[in-house]
Amino acid sequence: MKKHNFSAGPSILPRVAIENTSNAILNLNGTGLSLLEISHRSKDFQAIIDEAVALFKELLHIPENYHVLFLGGGASLQFCMLPFNLLNKKAAYLETGVWAKKALKEAKLFGEVNVVASSSDKNFSYIPKNFSVPSDAEYFHITTNNTIYGTEIHEDYSVEMPLVADMSSDILSRPVDVSKYALIYGGAQKNLGPAGVTFVILRDDILGKVDRKIPSMLDYRTHIAEGSMFNTPPVMPIFTVNETLKWIKSIGGVPQIYKMNQAKAQLLYDAIDNSKVFTGTAEKESRSIMNICFVMQEAYKEHEDAFMEFAKSKGMIGIKGHRSVGGFRASTYNALPIESVQALIDCMNEFEAQIVK
Ligand SMILES: *Cc1c(COP(=O)(O)O)cnc(C)c1O
Repeated sequence: MKKHNFSAGPSILPRVAIENTSNAILNLNGTGLSLLEISHRSKDFQAIIDEAVALFKELLHIPENYHVLFLGGGASLQFCMLPFNLLNKKAAYLETGVWAKKALKEAKLFGEVNVVASSSDKNFSYIPKNFSVPSDAEYFHITTNNTIYGTEIHEDYSVEMPLVADMSSDILSRPVDVSKYALIYGGAQKNLGPAGVTFVILRDDILGKVDRKIPSMLDYRTHIAEGSMFNTPPVMPIFTVNETLKWIKSIGGVPQIYKMNQAKAQLLYDAIDNSKVFTGTAEKESRSIMNICFVMQEAYKEHEDAFMEFAKSKGMIGIKGHRSVGGFRASTYNALPIESVQALIDCMNEFEAQIVK
């Protein structure tokens, strides 16, 4: 049976990226060597990482004065690497979910953290508005897409201090004005590639301003100077990221991906809004186009487990909601085809017809 992969992360990747990776694992570019057994200092790998950096810059229109790094440690390492490099006294954070909370917890080890606003009062079901960021904050940190709650910041904020964003789950899903940000980071395993590589896009004029000593491995300047090769980078994941970037370019780049993502999200949100049984959990104007969270309405709550089983029997994978929200979450990342969204809707409608008298 056809599987429809709605997993939140690691998650669905373009088929061609997976096929090209498996071919390269067997024989890279006809060298007779596996991608897994070549030197990261080889010409072959240098060409791969150079192409990945160049494609990232091209697809996101990253300005000249920015660097693109591929590091290890996940987005979670960035939670502490960021304040280590940027925070002397005070930073501002927008608290929009568990990932944002984890990020600001680490920052507190390095200085004062001002939480400018929080949506914790309604279980992070919305993006706060009308907050002000203290002008003495050395940077302002946001989580653009809240993977667990299905909310997303749909604009590029303009603030006077460096703007820093965790874009783990919406990078390259929509156009972003990179010039508004000083630093953007994320784990690759939602929209870009396999687990094991983290991307960081940054402007180097924000560096060198803290008083503390920084271990080489945690200093962005080290990785900029060494072209992400201070230590052995995650060779295989970077290869797959490059293949994913090539795929995005081949289908028309970020504007086209964005159109496709909007169409998928619209289709599913419409189905949820028109349902007698299901209801969305995020406030409408804060809804994410990447993670679509829904539950059963009170009167039907008891059927949630049964729906989960039914959906599984129809090939739906990874639709269980995060335990802090419950219900269901369909992640509609770049590589998920709209046919999978339609299959989920068909499955919802069929189940609804069974339980609504
Ligand atoms: C998944 C996720 C993370 C955690 O990423 P790791 O690479 O596992 O550390 C952080 N932030 C957001 C928004 C995420 O979706």
